[in-house]
Amino acid sequence: MRRRSFFALLAAPDPTIGDMQVLLNHWERTCRNQLLLAPRPLPWLVLYDQHHAWHVNPQRSVLKAPVTAAGEVRWAGRRLGVRRVANTAAGVWLPDGETIPIELGAAAKPWPRGGRKDSAVFVQIPLPSLFRSKGAGSISTQHWHSLALHEFTHTLHFLTVVRQWRALQAKFDLPRAADDDMIETAFKGNAEYVDIFNREKKWLEKAVFANDAAAARAATRESLALARQRQRRFFQPGWTEAEALWLSLEGCALWVQVRFELENAPAGQPWPQTAMGMAGFMGSWSHEHGAGLFWMIGNLVPGWRTRYFGGGPPPSPFDVLEQAL
Ligand SMILES: [Zn+2]
Repeated sequence: MRRRSFFALLAAPDPTIGDMQVLLNHWERTCRNQLLLAPRPLPWLVLYDQHHAWHVNPQRSVLKAPVTAAGEVRWAGRRLGVRRVANTAAGVWLPDGETIPIELGAAAKPWPRGGRKDSAVFVQIPLPSLFRSKGAGSISTQHWHSLALHEFTHTLHFLTVVRQWRALQAKFDLPRAADDDMIETAFKGNAEYVDIFNREKKWLEKAVFANDAAAARAATRESLALARQRQRRFFQPGWTEAEALWLSLEGCALWVQVRFELENAPAGQPWPQTAMGMAGFMGSWSHEHGAGLFWMIGNLVPGWRTRYFGGGPPPSPFDVLEQAL
């Protein structure tokens, strides 16, 4: 185990059990108050910094030795163990058996519980101290919590989405790797596509920031008409379904993230300002587009939570909005 310098200790204290508990309390409140769900079993959670990973609720028989007991947290009335594992020269060991370089990559991923492929999901989250040590500047506690809630939300859909994606891959000619950036990767260099997509996004932005319901509906209609035009013109069979799948996954997670940021914004801060403060989380097409679509779904579609968090495959956000208008 590497020793940390005195100054590193000052700048980057270990996460305490209390810090982890605060995060889990936010997730429990999000489940109950925003998603209207009783909290489900907590997935395996890996919080890591430059030196260690803290495994919350791990399957202990799978953990890579040497392992140090690091305390307990409470989740939905149960006590769950926390174990600390030192990183190696290769990086951070994860439940899927991979060892990843120590980078700033928050993610939800499948792992083979009981040796069965894609049977469970885990979440990896870099700790705030890693953001600082990577020279990425500091991340506020609020943004760090909202980033973690984004990944937790993915765990509610992840295994269904993986199954849906494999079914689409079996039926259509789609890229081999599962990737929520597949549309962006394929079309970002196509000026005609980007032109339609940008107009579609502009209307969606108008809908999100509209002052009244009628204007919001009218702008959503314009955006959806352009989306359909774009899909008809450019997509091979299966791509419309794949786009809907990735936008559902990212859109739901961004909806949770935005709601959390709004609830925790300084009193009196106008909501567009809070939304703009999240620009750092909107770096990809699937994030930005998904956030806009699900903001409108949250506003226009009664009962939308049951359709997206009820356990079944997520419906297309384009279909859901069209039906609501
Ligand atoms: Zn995401």
